[in-house]
Amino acid sequence: MNPTPVVELEGVRKVFDGGTVALDGVTLTVYEGEFFSLLGPSGCGKTTLLRILGGFEVPDAGTVRIAGVDVREVPPYRRPVNTVFQNYALFPHMTVFDNIAFGLRMRRRPPAEVRRKVGWAMELVQIEGLSARRPHELSGGQKQRVALARALVNEPRVLLLDEPLGALDLKLRKQLQIELMRLQMELGTTFVYVTHDQEEALVMSDRMAVMQNGRLEQVGLPEELYERPKTAFVARFLGRSNLIEAHAVAPDRAETPFGPLRVSGGLTPGRRYLLGIRPEKLRLAREPWNRANTVTARVKEIVYTGAENQYILEARGGELVAYTLNADISEPGYEEYDYGETVHVHLPPENLVVIDEPIGDEPRPPAP
Ligand code: ATP
Repeated sequence: MNPTPVVELEGVRKVFDGGTVALDGVTLTVYEGEFFSLLGPSGCGKTTLLRILGGFEVPDAGTVRIAGVDVREVPPYRRPVNTVFQNYALFPHMTVFDNIAFGLRMRRRPPAEVRRKVGWAMELVQIEGLSARRPHELSGGQKQRVALARALVNEPRVLLLDEPLGALDLKLRKQLQIELMRLQMELGTTFVYVTHDQEEALVMSDRMAVMQNGRLEQVGLPEELYERPKTAFVARFLGRSNLIEAHAVAPDRAETPFGPLRVSGGLTPGRRYLLGIRPEKLRLAREPWNRANTVTARVKEIVYTGAENQYILEARGGELVAYTLNADISEPGYEEYDYGETVHVHLPPENLVVIDEPIGDEPRPPAP
């Protein structure tokens, strides 16, 4: 069965007074039932994109379709969407029940239906006992549950969530992440979720987009973006990455400051690339590896994070970051190293990602 497009953006551009280009030609399709995240640094345009979907901003160019309808002339309250904001935006003078009932009452639903649906929404987000409280009598997590219930009670086709967990402490955030994922699966509602927290996006999304400067850098499955970033920005923004300048000398070979490196293929001889490798994909050993793609380095810094040891390694060609699991076993890849120790670093060719992004026209001479 083909997925049904629910949100369709084409060439959407938004320039604010003063000339800030918040969105610079965004084309994107989100499908029915997807948990889709927009991830990017502050100011990249995520909120503007969400506000355009909600009908709170009007694009200067491009088209926006929701559930097959061009929504240019459709006011926010007529769109099949609801928004959950980071600051909850609850009505302070109303009880929890009245906050949640607000949308239904605006649509003049009969009182019995209002009671039933509000009860259903409160149960969904597990706040059954709080109906008579006012927002100032709630914790941050409870307020966010009310905000969610207030949006879900209207059974939107698309739920827009703007950093809904941003104001909560880490433990609560993790708990609510799981609850939100469960809710989304149960209801099958399409979620468009804005966050600047890369782990949150990786954990929660079916698909996601990384944004920069009003543009979508890359759209895909979380593992696609993490494992095969198409730009240096995506490689750096999603987790950490070792990025190595390379000058291709064969389809599967390049000269780099770390010496010649083999990759799985796809290079055009004579061109320059960045090769990316994640810190957890470097292999460390005390004894030299009898293989290609090895670099000798010295341990410069060690960061102990509990589950992992993170090493900053100094090699002739520059620094490399490597993570090893703190598993207390003495096998290559798991050993622990001390400051100043020499380590042999293997960069498996299959884990070197070729980032095919222009990085200057001049071919770089091979490293000495
Ligand atoms: P954050 O994570 O900080 O919320 P964001 O990615 O959501 O950032 P936006 O709020 O969409 O970013 O803002 C994109 C750009 O547009 C920023 O440079 C911002 O300063 C600018 N901008 C947003 N709203 C307005 C406005 N009403 N008037 C002028 N400029 C605006």
